[in-house]
Amino acid sequence: MDLKDFRQHAHQLVDWIADYLEDIEKTRIVTEVKPGEVRAQLPHHPPQQGEPFAAIWQDFQSLIFPGMTHWNHPGWFAYFPANHSPPSLLAEMVTAALGAQCMSWQTSPAATELEQVVMAWLQEMLGLPSNFVGCIQDTASSSTLVALLSAREVATQHQFGRQGSSAPEATKMRVYASKEAHSSIDKAVKLAGFGLDHLRKIPTDKDFAMDVEALKAAIERDLAQGLHPTCVVASLGTTSSSAIDPLEAIGKICKQHGIWLHVDAAYAGAAAILPEHQGMLQGIEDADSFVFNPHKWLLTNFDCSAYYVRDVHALLATFQSSPEYLKTAYDPQVVNFRDWGIPLGRRFRALKLWFVLRSYGVEGLQAILRHHIALAQDFAQRLDAHPTLERMAPAPFGLVCFRHRPEGWGPDAPRLDLHNQTLLQQLNQDGHQYLTHTRLDGRFVIRVSIGQRETQQAHIDHLWQTILDALPNLP
Ligand SMILES: *Cc1c(COP(=O)(O)O)cnc(C)c1O
Repeated sequence: MDLKDFRQHAHQLVDWIADYLEDIEKTRIVTEVKPGEVRAQLPHHPPQQGEPFAAIWQDFQSLIFPGMTHWNHPGWFAYFPANHSPPSLLAEMVTAALGAQCMSWQTSPAATELEQVVMAWLQEMLGLPSNFVGCIQDTASSSTLVALLSAREVATQHQFGRQGSSAPEATKMRVYASKEAHSSIDKAVKLAGFGLDHLRKIPTDKDFAMDVEALKAAIERDLAQGLHPTCVVASLGTTSSSAIDPLEAIGKICKQHGIWLHVDAAYAGAAAILPEHQGMLQGIEDADSFVFNPHKWLLTNFDCSAYYVRDVHALLATFQSSPEYLKTAYDPQVVNFRDWGIPLGRRFRALKLWFVLRSYGVEGLQAILRHHIALAQDFAQRLDAHPTLERMAPAPFGLVCFRHRPEGWGPDAPRLDLHNQTLLQQLNQDGHQYLTHTRLDGRFVIRVSIGQRETQQAHIDHLWQTILDALPNLP
């Protein structure tokens, strides 16, 4: 493809993108393709000769597009949002055009320095302590792994007086997280060599937040047995119900015992740009690391995860390596973000965040998040006022968990799960909205996660109506 053709196709594609976003509500939100169906329509072998772009694009439209799920549809109530925005899309185009590999300051100075600037902007927006420093990671899962590896390294240095921690030393170390914590914690505990059976799942209170007394007891039990409590992961906004662990109390315990405190605020961290939600960060100064995902609820394309640490030396001690072929004359004066995480190569992710923060401004982003939270509160109030619909957890952000419990059915009636599974299926059959489920206290509940950029009252009204319409037909 020469640049003349590129220019022509690119213009067409931009028009296609704008049309797609304009008409997204006409698209069925979840595809109806069955497993293997897309693959069966594609050749088993790569083409030997190059094909014209028109043919590729034609196949995209007829074979690939119909197999996509539309996360940016305003009827998206599933999982958590992965919302994006026009300025973020534009930045992704430019990032792709530059194709820069931003591993070191030298390999694109502006990328490193812009990342420092946008991380400092976000830090100020969330009210994070000024002694924290941040960098962009691909995902919260990677950030949490980075945190656990750092915690392991620091503990090894303290306990064994040497660097470069190895797995055998980790076998006496223990990690703590609430039983509602995200599965990425389990994964990171495994990957970091702690061993999954050395992860203590701490019970939660009635609101699904970590029970601090139980945490304290677990740590004391382990200490009494000569084990090394190494890291506590506090969740601000759990995935099932957006529960908020009591950070301040957890921080005090960690401080007392010299335990690394990692804060997973992947989804709900974005809400801390609202002064009325910064209370959840009370005690954050005692945290060692903090992660939240602008790629969830801050209009920035996946992937973009903001990871902050209190002591950058611990991070560098874990990840820094400086082989001859990467050394540059500027190394003593600059930040090389390749030393702040696992991969060497880094995309220029700061650009999309910069485009987004400048396009919307702090107030613009605050208004969008407040709108989502108001919609969630409206939905929660409707549930609370309904005689047989039950809200199953507090709803401080954009997520509301509910189920239907017919009159006369006990809270653990065996039929309830099937009843609500059927309700969920019926709501999703609609084609204009998509919801997913979880379990809270073992009970099947439907999650309504409100956070798409274009989700409006009308979409909530539609959801509500489909719920009411479905109720008479459930098993
Ligand atoms: C979504 C989520 C994660 C995982 O995020 P990724 O960026 O996809 O790895 C981790 N923790 C919580 C609480 C989440 O909601």
